[in-house]
Amino acid sequence: MGGISEMPQVTEGPGAAGSEALATLHRVFGFDAFRGEQQAIIEHVVAGGDAVVLMPTGGGKSLCYQIPALVRPGTGVVVSPLIALMQDQVDALRALGVRAGFMNSTQDFDERRVVEAEFLAGELDLLYLAPERLRLDATLDLLSRGKISVFAIDEAHCVSQWGHDFRPDYLALSLLGERWPDVPRIALTATATRATHEEITQRLNLPTARHFVASFDRPNIQYRIVPKADPKKQLLAFLREEHPGDAGIVYCLSRNSVERTAEFLTANGIQAVPYHAGLDASVRAAHQSRFLREDGLVVVATIAFGMGIDKPDVRFVAHLDLPKSIEGYYQETGRAGRDGLPSTAWMAYGLNDVIQQRKLIQSGEGDEAFRRRAASHLDAMLALCETARCRRGQLLAYFGQDADAEACGNCDTCLTPPETWDGTVAAQKVLSTVVRLQRERGQKFGAVQIVDILLGKRTAKVIQFDHDQLSVFGIGQDLTEGEWRGVIRQLLAQGLLAVEGEYGTLVLTEASGAVLRREREVPLRKEPKKPAASRSRSAGGSGASGGGKAKAAAAELPEALLPAFEALRAWRAEQAREQGVPAYVIFHDATLREIVTRWPGSVRELGTVNGVGEKKLVTYGEGVLKVLASLDGAAVPAPAGAPDDADWPEPADEPEPEPDWV
Ligand code: ADP
Ligand code: ZN
Repeated sequence: MGGISEMPQVTEGPGAAGSEALATLHRVFGFDAFRGEQQAIIEHVVAGGDAVVLMPTGGGKSLCYQIPALVRPGTGVVVSPLIALMQDQVDALRALGVRAGFMNSTQDFDERRVVEAEFLAGELDLLYLAPERLRLDATLDLLSRGKISVFAIDEAHCVSQWGHDFRPDYLALSLLGERWPDVPRIALTATATRATHEEITQRLNLPTARHFVASFDRPNIQYRIVPKADPKKQLLAFLREEHPGDAGIVYCLSRNSVERTAEFLTANGIQAVPYHAGLDASVRAAHQSRFLREDGLVVVATIAFGMGIDKPDVRFVAHLDLPKSIEGYYQETGRAGRDGLPSTAWMAYGLNDVIQQRKLIQSGEGDEAFRRRAASHLDAMLALCETARCRRGQLLAYFGQDADAEACGNCDTCLTPPETWDGTVAAQKVLSTVVRLQRERGQKFGAVQIVDILLGKRTAKVIQFDHDQLSVFGIGQDLTEGEWRGVIRQLLAQGLLAVEGEYGTLVLTEASGAVLRREREVPLRKEPKKPAASRSRSAGGSGASGGGKAKAAAAELPEALLPAFEALRAWRAEQAREQGVPAYVIFHDATLREIVTRWPGSVRELGTVNGVGEKKLVTYGEGVLKVLASLDGAAVPAPAGAPDDADWPEPADEPEPEPDWV
């Protein structure tokens, strides 16, 4: 579906830039090939063109500016709002042999001076800066005295005033183009609506940029939305059944529920820590750091957590409360499975979510236009929750991308297609109860009272208000309480009922009349009795990967290779501990999986594994081969493509052949 057609496009021919970029990809990052549009983007920027890049989380945006920064002369300046992550980003690059540095408020004067000197001496490939620092005259002055290869503006949606993550400092970035007209600029984001895209282009002053819009599909993420009954218990069951020992994020709306949920999980034997803006900065930093460094920690958080977290092995993202918009939801769920391995986006959603969000919008600050926008964001989110279609199809359609297949096969509605039923009569019962209360009594009530009236329950409140005298009292005994709440929720979602005031009372909408007059039918989604079937996992359920070990990471590995995989993970954990870096900075799970399946017998062979670049081969090559050699070779099946003994691992003490990359 492409970019924004009115925008001028600058096209550059391919050239030597392409092969140099590819060589850098092999040598530094150890990857075979570019993904998706990476190559086109990189060639364009290396040739000096500006670019706006829209790519989902995990799509591989970083390489799009890191490689141009390595290929072009000078230092690549990366603008990022994520101060707390800069140290980790720089550590990860240094582990690859890239000369990276950062400047932000966490440094003292001396540390900053060192980085400044490195920059001026041309000794930095990449320099990370927070936008508030870039605005300072002192910083602009410093940058003018060095050589800059490219400006990368990460999380570029932060420039959008109407977006969910506005940062005023981003507005000042429009001056980069005026001050450095010859330095290419690349703006990147995972937030993809057309409006945000246009705002980025305008506000960052990128009129001649070429636009690259990647597919937003994340096929390895399974999307599931379940009706909310007892959310904490549902969450616990989900974690125990599907993600024991896995790292993940649980999002809650309030600080209070973050705290309570983290305590609940901990009390039930799941390692979990809270994260929200009310916690001390040092506590937040410590919890974030543990999440990045430890295997299998769960962070329970408000939306304050997660931007820029590039931990590749987050296996699930769970929502216990309804997000305010699809943009937010997609960005949060997108933090799962950046490594491409199977992951789950799971959400529990119920009537109270709808009422609460509608109330928040009405009682919140902002003018009428702001409220309307918030309401339409919520409506889109609700439509996703209530859809009987493929969730992925609906998500992609929201971002303007037609999903070619009607059914993805990896979301709850595809796995267990929901049944629909004719809810017209049920809807009429609810609406007439609301009408009668208002017309006959001049009263408005919330969902609980409406349901009690329909069910004919003589509660204290029903008796107090004589509601058992209404003609609608007890007309709804054909459905259960849960089903009635489902009906009301869906009526709210469809705009056939509305929420009013601070008590969340129910009122009719303009569309309600047509239902009461029998002019329109109301198809409703049946509330599933049982949660949707989870994906089939091939881990086999035997003890091999049990004991709280991450199940998903080992998924799809033959049983016989699991001991080797676990041995490499243990070796990696040891390295990570010694160096104080997250395990994935050493090697990703996907790289370890490839190592055990290919079983390289030499440093040279190890160098051909995806994710093993020049620097890592030098640093860890021997260590990895030693781990493999220490395992009982007889227990390991011959690797694919090595039918005879000729390619079998050489004895570890034999001298290595000269690697061909030197
Ligand atoms: P984004 O910033 O778009 O969320 P990243 O740049 O963090 O994504 O990349 C996501 C993951 O994909 C990272 O683990 C990265 O190492 C990996 N990756 C990116 N490009 C490639 C490639 N061409 N080949 C193999 N792995 C890649
Ligand atoms: Zn689907």
